[in-house]
Amino acid sequence: MAADTTILIVEDEPAIVELVSFTLRAAGWNTFAVNNTAEAWEFIQRRTPQLILLDWMLPDQSGLRLLSRIRSDRQFNEIPVIMLTAKSMEEDKIAGLDHGADDYITKPFSPRELTARMKALLRRKSPEHAQTALTVGSVVLDPVSCTVKINDQKVDIGHAEYKLLKFFMAHPERVFSRSQLLDKVWGDHVVIEERTVDVHVLRLRKVLKSAESLIKTVRSVGYMLSEK
Ligand code: CA
Repeated sequence: MAADTTILIVEDEPAIVELVSFTLRAAGWNTFAVNNTAEAWEFIQRRTPQLILLDWMLPDQSGLRLLSRIRSDRQFNEIPVIMLTAKSMEEDKIAGLDHGADDYITKPFSPRELTARMKALLRRKSPEHAQTALTVGSVVLDPVSCTVKINDQKVDIGHAEYKLLKFFMAHPERVFSRSQLLDKVWGDHVVIEERTVDVHVLRLRKVLKSAESLIKTVRSVGYMLSEK
């Protein structure tokens, strides 16, 4: 099963691209790299990433310009962005944060520090994309290996059910309508009927067996994951 979290690296130094790509792939993220802001913008429109690592000094334009463009776009302004830079001056850091960067990491950085910052940011902004294991009751979902265990037993689960379960586990005790689930789990590039959500919820409950009562139907609203 392919990782469903896409990270875009915008960086023109090949050695850093290589190191960062290797680190992020090892952490289970789907990683793409471009080396200028024009290609980055093209990529973002084609395939919205869940997080962007953005270098400051790029050959065509500064990373800050791209950041401003992202933050002023209604479709993309929520994408978490971490600025990567050789600059360590306090005023540069402030400029980055002023332009809407979520975090800032100064080169040289350790791969461990980078992934830790990324996980923290994703946990804050979109918990279903943080690569940390999610546990609710007897169910444990590991996003790095894309596996689900119930009472320590690995279960067979389809891709759609896996994504749905991951979303529910990242947002427990919250009710979501069918259209919200379609939007959040399947993304807005996919056109499917709301009824399809019911089919996947049904399948998910079958997979969960003894834990199926975790997925609650909230009449005339939608579904939620609840231990109550
Ligand atoms: Ca650079």
